Amino acid sequence: MKNNIPFLDLKSINALHRAELIQAFERVLDSGRYILGEELNLFEKSFASYCETKHCAGVSNGLDALHLILRSFGIGAGDEVIVPSNTYIATWLAVTYAGAVPVPVEPLESSYNISPALIESAITPRTKAIIAVHLYGQPADMDAIMAIANRYNLKVIEDAAQAHGALYKGRKVGGLGHAAGFSFYPGKNLGALGDAGAITSNDDLLIEKVRMLLNYGSKVKYYNDVQGFNCRLDELQAALLGVKLPHLDIETQLRCRIAQQYTQGLQGLPLHLPIVAEGTSPVWHLYVLRSEKRDELQSKLAELGIVTLIHYPIAPHQQSAYKTFNQLSFPIAEKIHHQVLSLPLSPTMSQSDVNQVIAAVRACVV
Ligand SMILES: *Cc1c(COP(=O)(O)O)cnc(C)c1O
Repeated sequence: MKNNIPFLDLKSINALHRAELIQAFERVLDSGRYILGEELNLFEKSFASYCETKHCAGVSNGLDALHLILRSFGIGAGDEVIVPSNTYIATWLAVTYAGAVPVPVEPLESSYNISPALIESAITPRTKAIIAVHLYGQPADMDAIMAIANRYNLKVIEDAAQAHGALYKGRKVGGLGHAAGFSFYPGKNLGALGDAGAITSNDDLLIEKVRMLLNYGSKVKYYNDVQGFNCRLDELQAALLGVKLPHLDIETQLRCRIAQQYTQGLQGLPLHLPIVAEGTSPVWHLYVLRSEKRDELQSKLAELGIVTLIHYPIAPHQQSAYKTFNQLSFPIAEKIHHQVLSLPLSPTMSQSDVNQVIAAVRACVV
């Protein structure tokens, strides 16, 4: 019997942890402390240790994480920040939110991540930072990016929203640049039951500034040193994330197994399958393939009950939100946006679900 295969089955993922999540909820409920308490401290310590970084600061979401990092590095009006032309729009929004200008650089077609060879020609005297996105869970080429940044004295910020636990040359993302932003949006590999995010870094001063900015610009209650924000991660989400973090590596292994089976099962078709860059261990937030007949493939798969998504249908520079960029041309990003298709990928998929997806793609590709 054929099932419908959902894209991501969050209900079944969270059901695995039901008893522990309810326990955590009751603990927070009964504690009487709902903001900036022990649950947050504990989660920050665990996540810093997981990312092999000195510090972690919990924040409200991934966009705020990137925004606060930029602000804390003193980046704002008059500054430029290099971003990938191919990314989720939040990477760009963080830059404009801080008052700076995003300067797009094209990705490599092999990894979909920013092309280090193209960064240097985008640097101007106003450039202050590079945001390297580990898109779809594949680490960007951080050694090459750091080498350029060091030469020009630029900050490197990792957008690790899709890459919790990914390895680059044996090192965890989150500690490879000067600071990193994570998202715990429910659909991310480590997902809260609502919005949540974190900043990781080895930089004491940066984290001190971040902690001040995320809490109204105040170190001591009712004394405000700077005009800050309210970007706190609340106790409840921190407690729920603390339940899920110890299970993340197992869920990542399940994602890797599914990705491996997709790659084996889909050989020999007129498709571009994901390529894993040497020295990296991706965490398969998404399994993204490319087809010249993407839309046709997607609708045929839908007829067979296979839900696929497009990450993403419109490049940031072509969005109405960025009208001043609409006339610019980033052909690699545009091509990627026209061709990508993400297959279902849940750590809770059964073997028969995986087989069904592979069979359906084989049947639908022309
Ligand atoms: C999800 C995501 C973000 C934003 O995270 P939110 O928690 O939704 O604000 C930023 N960058 C990338 C690449 C993302 O996938």
